[in-house]
Amino acid sequence: MVVRMRVNRSKTGKRRSHHALAAARPVTCDCGAERLSHRACPSCGKYNGKVIIDVVARAKRQSRRDKKRQKELRAAGQEKDTTNKETKQEVTT
Ligand SMILES: [Zn+2]
Repeated sequence: MVVRMRVNRSKTGKRRSHHALAAARPVTCDCGAERLSHRACPSCGKYNGKVIIDVVARAKRQSRRDKKRQKELRAAGQEKDTTNKETKQEVTT
C-alpha cells in the first residue's frame, strides 16, 4: 500500500465501530413457537395467518430422504452410526 493511502489505527477503529452484528429478535408465533419476523414459522408453516409451508409433507419428505441415505451408506459398507461409536470408544479408553 502506498504510504499516502495508509489509514491510521484511529480511522480503522472508527470505521469498524459500526461493524457489530445485532442479535436476531424472535417473535412469538400464533402457534406459540418462536420465529423470526418476516419469515414463515418453521413449526406450523404459517405466514401472515395463512399456511404457506406444508410442514407434515416436509417432515415426511425429510424422513424418507434420511432413510434413503442410511440405506445407501449401509450398501456402501460405511454406516455413519458405527463409525461414530468407534471414535467415541477410542476417546473414552
Ligand atoms: Zn407457528
